[in-house]
Amino acid sequence: MARRKKIYEGKAKILYEGPEPGTIVQYFKDDATAFNAEKKDVIDGKGVLNNRLSEFFMNGLTQIGVPTHFIRRLNMREQLVRSCEIVPLEVIVRNYAAGTMSKRLGIAEGTQLPRPIVEYCYKDDALGDPLVSEEHIAAFGWASQQDMEDILSLALRVNDFMSGVMFGVGIRLVDFKIEIGRVYEGDFQRLIIADEISPDSCRLWDIETGEKLDKDVFRRDLGNLTDAYSEVARRLGVLPKTNVAKPTLIN
Ligand code: 5GP
Repeated sequence: MARRKKIYEGKAKILYEGPEPGTIVQYFKDDATAFNAEKKDVIDGKGVLNNRLSEFFMNGLTQIGVPTHFIRRLNMREQLVRSCEIVPLEVIVRNYAAGTMSKRLGIAEGTQLPRPIVEYCYKDDALGDPLVSEEHIAAFGWASQQDMEDILSLALRVNDFMSGVMFGVGIRLVDFKIEIGRVYEGDFQRLIIADEISPDSCRLWDIETGEKLDKDVFRRDLGNLTDAYSEVARRLGVLPKTNVAKPTLIN
């Protein structure tokens, strides 16, 4: 097979040119990073789990009419996605206070918010993805007013879907981050959910015990990250329910 052209390598994924125009192969690495890559490790099996979990969530979103970049999973570590122009924003939705919101505003972690709160960060590793307001976004032309309305609506739909799916398996969706892609169709453009949705980009707490089942396990040295992600996958039926030492695919 001809060597594929690498388009981009990020902290957790590599993007290769896809087999057809307008497609990209998204490869999930086992690398885990936190605090803007100040903390790094290789976590055996993380990429396999995130590939499957992102597939599961993106397929679910497609089913309820939320457009995503996902086309199909290719193998254990790769999925075929639509190529799109990434809006340079991290869109964060919070249902409970945690992480940087707790630090910034002094609200105890786990406090339920009066309603979902959507925040925007400017995607720039060198700057540490700073929080920005809609004023910055409009003034610097990162997204139009119409884009921002569409992004808010997409983010809240993803939140409702993810919260419900997680609640069904005894997990609280505390917060999450999504990225938005722009695709052009004839004379029109459309915004879709891009990147990944996985325990790398969500905070997931067991409803009964409060146990953390997301990347905070790595960020805060709370135990084995693969065990936490496997537990999420098992509850969602993405992995078999029996105890497995390593991620085992069911089909
Ligand atoms: P916080 O702002 O509290 O650090 O993060 C809020 C939520 O967004 C968490 O679920 C966190 O995992 C996610 N998040 C924020 N920034 C990033 C990022 O750069 N990469 C990933 N994968 N997730 C992020």
